[in-house]
Amino acid sequence: MALQFFNTLSRSVQEFVPRDPRRQSVGLYCCGPTVHDFAHVGNFRTFVFADLVRRYLEFKGRKVRHVMNITDVEDKIIRRVRETNAPLRDYTAPFEAAFFQDFQALNCLLPHDTPRASEHIADIIALIEKLVARGVAYRAADGSVYFSIEKYQGAGGHYGRLLKLNFEEMRPGERVSSDEYAKEAAADFALWKARVPDDGAVFWPSPWGEGRPGWHIECSAMSMKSLGPSFDLHLGGEDLVFPHHEDEIAQSEGAGAQPPGQPFVKYWLHGAHLLVEGKKMSKSLGNFFTLRDLLAKGFTGREIRYLLLTAHYRETFNFTFEGLQGARAALLRLDQCLTKLRELAGNLKVQALSALVDQFAGALDDDLNISGAWGAVFDWVRQTNRRVDEHTLDAPEAAAALAAWERLDTVLGVGAPKEVEAPAQVMALLDARQAARKARDFKRADALRDGLKAKGWLIEDTPKGARLKRI
Ligand code: AMP
Ligand code: ZN
Repeated sequence: MALQFFNTLSRSVQEFVPRDPRRQSVGLYCCGPTVHDFAHVGNFRTFVFADLVRRYLEFKGRKVRHVMNITDVEDKIIRRVRETNAPLRDYTAPFEAAFFQDFQALNCLLPHDTPRASEHIADIIALIEKLVARGVAYRAADGSVYFSIEKYQGAGGHYGRLLKLNFEEMRPGERVSSDEYAKEAAADFALWKARVPDDGAVFWPSPWGEGRPGWHIECSAMSMKSLGPSFDLHLGGEDLVFPHHEDEIAQSEGAGAQPPGQPFVKYWLHGAHLLVEGKKMSKSLGNFFTLRDLLAKGFTGREIRYLLLTAHYRETFNFTFEGLQGARAALLRLDQCLTKLRELAGNLKVQALSALVDQFAGALDDDLNISGAWGAVFDWVRQTNRRVDEHTLDAPEAAAALAAWERLDTVLGVGAPKEVEAPAQVMALLDARQAARKARDFKRADALRDGLKAKGWLIEDTPKGARLKRI
């Protein structure tokens, strides 16, 4: 089966055919974090989803250029900057650094380009100038510049590509200046916002006077600068469909830089939300966990990544601690199976077991059917365990299975737990457990094993003796 994605633009599952099939390279843009605070696991669900799309395209042999912007000029940030009295960059830098730390803790591959809005003001102004010159944007009396939906539609544009809008309800000439608004408030939106006292020191000169860009135009300018005026894939969370992505299309196609007949973006993919007790995990509802909250509770980036990767990207998914415990247990099962395979395979290197790889890829080709992909992995774990127990798995078979797993893991990215040295205190507990076993005090030996597990260490009894592994 060929790779298929659900394209929000066509509201259907479509075969993925890159814009330029002769070239292997695929352009992928995912709206990045707003660095006004630490990102929560809901945000990371979207970034892990983007990472999965990129990794799977690479698995399929495509060369991907992955771009993720950093939103560092935006209403919420300016509000925080005002409250803290810090210069913009001083305020955003620690949150940006924390974001990348978390991003890597989740083993997300670094994008090839991570442009900051604050460093692309000239590109943004140039794009707005183009829109003004083409008659689809206008300067209001206060010096702000707005996108005219009416003029855009009049010039043959279509506003409402990702979402059906009721134009009867929209009154021409009405304007919305905030970065976020509902579809009921759809109106001419701000491209450039004239400086007001509340902006403090966050402003730049422009042909329309001092001010700052709106959030939507930032992504149009940065994505087209990095990937060209027309590219393959644009991703984000489902909350970005409207107005952010609708406005991005209007601005980017309104500027008319695309070759004739080519859209700004060919495939729009949106990830569903991470929920907590049925509600969207969000800062404003106060029901969120940052990645650091979860790491501090003793969960690993690997466990969190696994959990975020268990649900299909278009299905909402409830975050629970039981779910995280389940992730820990599932990874343990996988790790134990891999350890046995490694012992059997030794240093033997052979071709990957193609049946497993094919089954895995068959599932992911189907609009990233991750449950099917994990199903293939855990069926294989079950069969492998059985054959190991029956002593019917030989070294070449074990090596082929391991090679297949390594292929799969280029997509899943849950890897093996890091081999880290256990601290002396933990080693002492292991010695005590070994001594208890020798003395046939199995109750004490089991209690010590459980104690080690609670501290995040697993005892593996191998033919070469007991060893410790980080859970
Ligand atoms: P922000 O930092 O608010 O700009 O959001 C960064 C990304 O996280 C965007 O793609 C959002 O759509 C996404 N996002 C926000 N909340 C959630 C959530 N609860 N579940 C999944 N994605 C989310
Ligand atoms: Zn964006």
